[in-house]
Amino acid sequence: MLSIRDLTHVYPNGTRALDGVSLDIPAGMFGLLGPNGAGKSSLMRCLATLQVPTSGQIRFGEIDVLAQPASLRATLGYLPQDFGVYPRVSAEDMLDHLAVLKGIAGRGERRETIETLLRQVNLWDVRKKAIAGFSGGMRQRFGIAQALIGNPRLIIVDEPTAGLDPEERNRFNNLLSEIGESVVVILSTHIVDDVTDLCPRMAILVGGRIVQTGTPTELIAAL
Ligand code: ADP
Ligand code: ADP
Repeated sequence: MLSIRDLTHVYPNGTRALDGVSLDIPAGMFGLLGPNGAGKSSLMRCLATLQVPTSGQIRFGEIDVLAQPASLRATLGYLPQDFGVYPRVSAEDMLDHLAVLKGIAGRGERRETIETLLRQVNLWDVRKKAIAGFSGGMRQRFGIAQALIGNPRLIIVDEPTAGLDPEERNRFNNLLSEIGESVVVILSTHIVDDVTDLCPRMAILVGGRIVQTGTPTELIAAL
């Protein structure tokens, strides 16, 4: 369970991107819905330990995230909104490199992990191809494979379906829904359908504040 208390983030230019956010997020898929500029990416970056909030607390199970960022990183899978790719590196080589960084030392174990992941995201057949040549949908599915290396217990996905066509979006969302119930998956998006299709619980963020939390049915009824 992820617990966020009074999280506030003010950028150096004075923009108050997060203004006292408190949320309890159980295992399973959780949707964070909000318009552009609401503070979703700022919140995701704080949770992913890429940005230190101005004030507040974040706990993930036993981990005090702001005090022990390395402990969280060891169990975190993060798919940022725009992840960079190295132009000529193949899907397989990139995952192998990341698996080494995640501390999976044995070659055989890495090969097995990578095959499982690439089959899961349906990119096994193109494993030797350069990621730079992938379509938007393929890139996002590759991003999920990257995020799943090392069996993270917290997975953060920021605006994953932006720019995907409806078929790619469905494929991506089906993949997300398979990831499992035992991990916390936070899906940040401005697309209402992504949340209502996938997430049993959700929150709405507007202007850096949580304005509502509940089931999609409850929240959509209130709109
Ligand atoms: P969202 O992801 O919901 O679109 P963001 O977290 O990107 O929202 O942005 C929230 C607010 O913070 C916006 O007003 C945005 O312009 C501002 N903001 C985001 N990043 C920075 C930054 N590095 N410096 C200053 N303001 C920022
Ligand atoms: P999002 O789509 O999540 O709102 P943006 O497109 O607003 O993201 O921001 C893209 C990048 O620009 C991010 O790294 C963000 O931190 C930065 N950024 C956004 N708004 C500002 C701002 N007002 N001043 C400085 N940097 C910003």
